Amino acid sequence: MKRYALREEMNDIVEPPRKTWFWELEAAVIEAERCVQCGVCVAVCPSNSLGINDLTNLPELVKMCTGCSLCWDFCPRGGLQYEATWPPATPEVELSSTAVEIRSRRDPADPYWKITGVDPAQGLGRVLDSFAVRAARRADGAQDGGAVTALLESLLVGGAIDGALVSKPSSDPDEPWKGVATIATNAKELRAASGSFYNQTMALAELDLSKYTLPAKPRIAVVGTPCEVEGLRAMQLRKWPTGAHRVEAVTLTIALMCTKSFDYERLIVQELQRTRHIDLERVSKVDVTRGRLVVEYLDGAVAVDEPIKAFHGAALKGCDECADFLGRGADISVGSVGSLDGWTSVIIRSERGREAFERARGALDFRELDDPAALLRLDALDKKIALSTLQRPFDVDGAMFIEFDEHVKNYTGTDRTPVFIRR
Ligand SMILES: Cc1cc2nc3c(=O)[nH]c(=O)nc-3n(C[C@H](O)[C@H](O)[C@H](O)COP(=O)(O)OP(=O)(O)OC[C@H]3O[C@@H](n4cnc5c(N)ncnc54)[C@H](O)[C@@H]3O)c2cc1C
Ligand code: SF4
Ligand code: SF4
Repeated sequence: MKRYALREEMNDIVEPPRKTWFWELEAAVIEAERCVQCGVCVAVCPSNSLGINDLTNLPELVKMCTGCSLCWDFCPRGGLQYEATWPPATPEVELSSTAVEIRSRRDPADPYWKITGVDPAQGLGRVLDSFAVRAARRADGAQDGGAVTALLESLLVGGAIDGALVSKPSSDPDEPWKGVATIATNAKELRAASGSFYNQTMALAELDLSKYTLPAKPRIAVVGTPCEVEGLRAMQLRKWPTGAHRVEAVTLTIALMCTKSFDYERLIVQELQRTRHIDLERVSKVDVTRGRLVVEYLDGAVAVDEPIKAFHGAALKGCDECADFLGRGADISVGSVGSLDGWTSVIIRSERGREAFERARGALDFRELDDPAALLRLDALDKKIALSTLQRPFDVDGAMFIEFDEHVKNYTGTDRTPVFIRR
């Protein structure tokens, strides 16, 4: 592969300035507290040089960095602007990447183009179908309509997939309500992993499938936050020298609509357990819904019901920069917004997504979305926050600063890609 060919393709870099080493990603993203714990850097590293720090749940170097630059290039808070994956470059997509690039250059002043690479008038993104969905047999602990678990169960039991990357509760009794990435290979494991965990799990690092019993050519569905789907799409769309992580095995992506995720310690331990004296043993559900954080006890009592902004300090800072609430790169996007309580809003975005939904049809009740405009409103708010965050100067810690290098342009032809330069 031509040196830097991948960077040229992804970011339109005419003269790539230089190699980027892991410690630059570390300084620019991880130490700057912008990491959203997606695990893309771990999954993309061809020399398997990255692992996850047990204490911080953040990426760390476990052996020598070769300077291949891929961890930086694919990091959603580094070189990968998610517009690089927009629109999904599958054959069904009508807009070619060139068309997007030309259109964005024609209107570089439009802030929506800068962040999303897409005309705001495109609303929900690519939509083949959209429904409010409820599982006919809802799993105990499902977050909304249980659509995700029911759909995956149908695919797994019907032999259309061999496993699903989901989040299960931590087995450590000291960490109740912490989600941990796992590959579920049967219905029981899937059901045990239903519900939402409001911490990031470095999910894509789990695509090293060696510890699971799977066929030689496994077909894996991935449930993840939009940032995880962005990284996965980017890896699937571009040739790169692979390591242990089986990115090519992913045959379906389901994005959980997401405006922010949280640090486990700061949200669950600090804010809920220590500050609000919540008995975690008695909690039946933690939910972020309609701009509020709601915690319910097993007896039905509401233990917490406060505006989500009261928990801003516990959220991942890097989420403020994210403008992809709707998970536009996924085969299917799901969320609670847009449907009545007890139902899941489902947007089918690709033929793969449609095929999966069709296979699961018998296990699902569905009807029209109740309030699609609510999805648009939350998407607009998410972008507004991202825009204001991106316009603020980044923190400067003395040794590092960020500037916009004119050689480094992102996919839309704007100059948003931050470059970190060592002084
Ligand atoms: C951090 C986070 C923020 C969210 N924010 C919003 C929001 O602002 N607005 C909105 O409408 N919806 C949001 N959702 C999505 C919503 O909470 C539900 O997950 C969605 O509606 C699907 O419900 P369900 O009953 O169909 O899913 P279920 O049948 O309960 O299945 C949920 C699936 O998601 C997996 N999962 C749970 N937590 C994670 C995680 N952290 N990372 C990866 N996979 C996970 C589970 O293992 C399970 O497979 C968010 C979800 C998360 C995890
Ligand atoms: S945001 Fe994702 S890719 Fe970037 S450093 Fe964090 S885990 Fe790695
Ligand atoms: S808000 Fe964006 S960056 Fe943060 S977890 Fe959700 S999708 Fe990822």
